[in-house]
Amino acid sequence: MKKELEKAIKGFVSTSPSNQLKDSDERYFAEPMIGYADINDPLFSEYKTIVGDFHLTPVEFLEAEYGEAYPRSGTVVSWILPVSLAVRRSNRKGKKIPSFEWSHTRYFGELFNESLRKYVVALLRTRGYRTLAPVLAAQWKRVESPEAGHASTWSERHAAYAAGLGTFSLSDGLITRKGIAHRAGSVITELVIEPTARPYQGPYDYCLKYNSNTCGACIKRCPAGAITEKGHDKEACHQYMRQVIYPKVNEKYGVTIPGCGLCQTKVPCESRIPANTPVSR
Ligand code: SF4
Ligand code: SF4
Repeated sequence: MKKELEKAIKGFVSTSPSNQLKDSDERYFAEPMIGYADINDPLFSEYKTIVGDFHLTPVEFLEAEYGEAYPRSGTVVSWILPVSLAVRRSNRKGKKIPSFEWSHTRYFGELFNESLRKYVVALLRTRGYRTLAPVLAAQWKRVESPEAGHASTWSERHAAYAAGLGTFSLSDGLITRKGIAHRAGSVITELVIEPTARPYQGPYDYCLKYNSNTCGACIKRCPAGAITEKGHDKEACHQYMRQVIYPKVNEKYGVTIPGCGLCQTKVPCESRIPANTPVSR
């Protein structure tokens, strides 16, 4: 079933007409990376301390969806959709606002990601495995917390970290083998698949600022001053988007959530684990 699942996910990404920039042959996303985590991995409980007590475990999602007879074993299937080269290139030129292609990838590409979640849920259910997509479940909601700032009850990036797909960065992204410029998605299923080994020791292993106190390119790329040596100021980032980017591009580009991603392009971690990272790849 693992092979069938991976073939289906990759096939959906490579053939779906929804994964295509408007009036262009270019795709929002290149071939995905897929990883697996045990639903009972203790890391998911630790996220209640690391992210916040509002963050739900896979088991809590399953219990809420299926009641007392919820599956006791299963897998978090996580994927990374790397932003295509054409889209990344377009955003490298930006200094204050995202490119048209980047904003469309953030908005329409995420709608595609949503359709991928639904597709994977339907596929696994058809094969007899109870499955849900956490961000489409009733329990998913946005949370404002004094410690975590803008957060939610399920973080796709944290699911991807648990599934061996990458580590966090100074700019709050997840650096994967295919870089930091991506969208992530996941489903929780009772299908048991062997977990993917996490080829890292710590949560920031792939970021040059943390592993060798070098780089800092994302600090310079951010027009809002939202990234410093201390990390990413979520509130400053959101304010810049609301006050500067939304008024400038939403109507012009025809989107309501344009993203920004300047800190994810024209940086050493854009499309790979940065060179000289002294940890395993
Ligand atoms: S640009 Fe450099 S400092 Fe910023 S997240 Fe990437 S590797 Fe880390
Ligand atoms: S931190 Fe926010 S405002 Fe700054 S470059 Fe990144 S996405 Fe844009």
